[in-house]
Amino acid sequence: MKRFLSLFILLLGVVFALDAQSLSNYRLEFDKRDMGSGALKVTCEFTIDFAGEDSLVLDFGGNFEELAVEELMITPADVRYTFDPIAKHITFYRAQADTLRVEMGYIYMNFTSVFMYNNKGAEVWECISTDSGEYYYPMRRGMLYSGEVLFHVPDALQVVTQGSLIATEWLRINQCVPLNFVFLDCARYEMNTMPGSYKCDVYQLKGQQAEADRYAELCRLAVLAIEWFEAKYGDAYIDPVYGTHDYPAFVFHNGNASFNRYNMGFISASQEKFATAPDIYPLMHEIGHRWMGEYTMFIESGSRGYAFVVETLNEFMTLQCIREVVGIEAYEELIADYRMRWDKIRGTEQDVHPIEVTENNNIPVTYRKGVVMLDSIAREVGYDAVIATIVEFYQAYKGKPNLRYEDFEQLCKFSL
Ligand SMILES: [Zn+2]
Repeated sequence: MKRFLSLFILLLGVVFALDAQSLSNYRLEFDKRDMGSGALKVTCEFTIDFAGEDSLVLDFGGNFEELAVEELMITPADVRYTFDPIAKHITFYRAQADTLRVEMGYIYMNFTSVFMYNNKGAEVWECISTDSGEYYYPMRRGMLYSGEVLFHVPDALQVVTQGSLIATEWLRINQCVPLNFVFLDCARYEMNTMPGSYKCDVYQLKGQQAEADRYAELCRLAVLAIEWFEAKYGDAYIDPVYGTHDYPAFVFHNGNASFNRYNMGFISASQEKFATAPDIYPLMHEIGHRWMGEYTMFIESGSRGYAFVVETLNEFMTLQCIREVVGIEAYEELIADYRMRWDKIRGTEQDVHPIEVTENNNIPVTYRKGVVMLDSIAREVGYDAVIATIVEFYQAYKGKPNLRYEDFEQLCKFSL
């Protein structure tokens, strides 16, 4: 018997502009039955509100261009649209009425997922809102939509996604928070639930689980990090507006070891690193993305300060968390290490100002130099003052589309 897993999502919408274009009554079905690695059968329907405009452009498609979307069928037959697989855009054109109900069916081939996680027990589907992105259903960052989602999976797989694992109740989220999910091979995964206040689920590959003390350390630091970030940012981890209906599940995979991701409902990271890498602080960084990152702070990749806003500020806050919950000694060691990593590239072409990094492609600058620079400022003006500025920035701009680095600059009482 096929498992029938349903997850309903209703997006209510904090309305930023009343005349904004929107998608409503979005119905999405993801069918993984009889589909090979990285492939998914998708059917979806939604009502477009053109809001007086002639057309609506949605992000749709993925890497390897025309191979990503196959067997595309759109109804009604007279609907006017253009699909540009290179730009990853589907454009719908208005006929007479301002609203249009569209139905689509297609096979989606997620090459990013195949390359990162192929056939290793976990297939992670993540909408990535950069040029390398995968948009496996038509969407638009920051746009309002409402709808419901249904998964069909074979018995051998289970789905981890936002909300509870097998949710049949209506869940409410908002602001085009993308749907991310992972298909896990039931036979290869073991699940444990953390003790204590948050009860996060932890999925580990059988035979490669971390030692008990390391697992205990993850449980301890996850609780401390969630508490610390909640207190500092002044917002609870769980907030349906940002797609968090529950505390995060941790999914450890055997895919690309550098691919740590915050996916709202779950955090995905390398099983091997969790079990063996020197510390598990990078997982605290992923927790921090609930507040500071691409799903809450809608800054576009390619724009000035992109990597600084999405990554450097989050890494700095993660280190402040470590400073307060682990200790100043651990913090100073990390800062010394970060300084050394910056020194290694100092004076080279790579050694640009952190604000000039417009894609997440310069690790020593974004994750090391930028943090050391903020630390130097904090030593002058006080750690609390720098943290307060970042919190003020988050509170002022969370969930608002079209964020710019200049918005942060204006709030700053110090210069970088
Ligand atoms: Zn990050």
